Amino acid sequence: MSYYVLITNIITLIAVIAWVMERKRATKLEADKLVEAEQQQFIREAELEEQATRTITLFDRMIEGVIVLDSKGFIRLSNKAASSLFGFSNPAVGRSLIEVVRNYEVNEIISRLAEDSEVLGHDLRIEGVNPPRFLQINALALRNRDGMYDGAILVFHDLTRMRELEVVRQEFVGNVSHELRTPLSLVKSAVETLIDGAKDDTKTLGRFLEIIERNANRLSLLIDDLLLLSTLDSGRMQLQLQAVGLYLAINEISEDLLPAAQRRGITIVNQVKEDIYASADPNRLRQVLSNLIDNAIKYGKNEGSIYISSSVLATKRIEVRIMDDGPGIPLDVQSRIFERFFRVDKARSRDQGGTGLGLAIVKHVVQAHGGDVRVESELGKGSTFIFTLPLAAA
Ligand code: ADP
Repeated sequence: MSYYVLITNIITLIAVIAWVMERKRATKLEADKLVEAEQQQFIREAELEEQATRTITLFDRMIEGVIVLDSKGFIRLSNKAASSLFGFSNPAVGRSLIEVVRNYEVNEIISRLAEDSEVLGHDLRIEGVNPPRFLQINALALRNRDGMYDGAILVFHDLTRMRELEVVRQEFVGNVSHELRTPLSLVKSAVETLIDGAKDDTKTLGRFLEIIERNANRLSLLIDDLLLLSTLDSGRMQLQLQAVGLYLAINEISEDLLPAAQRRGITIVNQVKEDIYASADPNRLRQVLSNLIDNAIKYGKNEGSIYISSSVLATKRIEVRIMDDGPGIPLDVQSRIFERFFRVDKARSRDQGGTGLGLAIVKHVVQAHGGDVRVESELGKGSTFIFTLPLAAA
C-alpha cells in the first residue's frame, strides 16, 4: 500500500469515527430531550389532576346545591349539597333532573330557560323530604356557539333554617304582645271601673288598687325578663366571673323566697357542701338559682320539700340539683320547657305570676358560663332540674 493510500484510509477512519461520535452525541441529546419532554408532560398532567381534584373538592364543599344539566334535562354534574337537599345518592350523573328532584316548579323553570337567559331568586317548597325544605333557586341557561340552548346551571340555597327562625321570631313577637296586653287590659279596666265611681267605695277601691299593683308588677317583671333575654341574645352580657360559694348563695335565695315557700307549707333543704365554689357571675348565678327554686315552690306540692344538692364532676365541673316533689312534667314536653313562653299549664303559670321566660333565662345564663341544664321528671313523682357550672380554681 502506498503512503498516499495509507494516509487516505487513516483520514477516512478518523472521519468515520468523528461521524459515529457525533451521531451518538446527537442521539443522546434527542433522548435527553425526549426524557425532559416526558417529565414535563408528567408534571403538567399531575398539576391538571391536582387542579381537578381541588375544583371537585371545592364543588362538593359548597353550601349551595349545584346541578348542571344538558340540553335534554339530564344531569351532567351535581354536588353533595344538591344530593342531600333532594335526598338522592351522589353523583346523579346521567339521571334526569325531574326523576331526582320531583318538583314540577323546577321543571317549569328549566322550560323558561329555553327563552330567558336566567331565572333568579325563585322560592321553592320541597315536599318529598322530611321536614319539607324551603329553597331559593337561581338558574342560568348555557348556550352553544350558535346561541342554541345547551343545558343549565341550577344553584339551590337552603332557606329552611332562616324560615324556621322567622317563624320563631314571629311567634315571639306574638307572645310578647299577648303577654303585655293581658296585664295592661286588666290595669286599664280596673282604672276605668274606678273612674266610673268605684273609687268612692273604699272597699272596692282597695281591691281594684291591688289588681292594678299586681298587674303593674307583672308587667315590670316581664319587661325585666325580656330585656335580660335580649342582652343575653345579643352577646352583650359581660360575665363578672369569680369564685361563688354555692351554699351561701342558696341560703340567701331560700331566705328571700321563704315567704312564698311558707305560704304553701314547703320546706327548702340546702344539702350543698359549704366548701364548694363555682366560677360564676354572682348576680347571674343568683338569677339561675332563684328562677329554679321559685319554680320548685310555684309548681311543687303543698306541704312538700325541695332538696338542693351538688356534686363535683370529674370534668372540673359542679352539678347542682334542685329537686321537688310536685306533679312532675310530662315526658313529651320536657324538651320544650326551656323555650320562651312555653308553659305546661298556662293558667297555673299566670296565676303564679310567671312570665314564661324563667327557664329560657336559666338556660341562656348557664350556657354563657359554659355549662348546661336539663330536667329529669316523672309524672306524679316530682321534677329535678340539673345544671352544671365550672368549678372555681382552688
Ligand atoms: P313560668 O314563668 O311559667 O314559671 P318558666 O320558664 O320558669 O316559666 O317555666 C316554664 C314552664 O315549665 C312552667 O310554666 C311550668 O309549666 C313548667 N315548670 C317549670 N318548673 C317546673 C317544676 N319544678 N315542676 C313542674 N313544672 C315546672
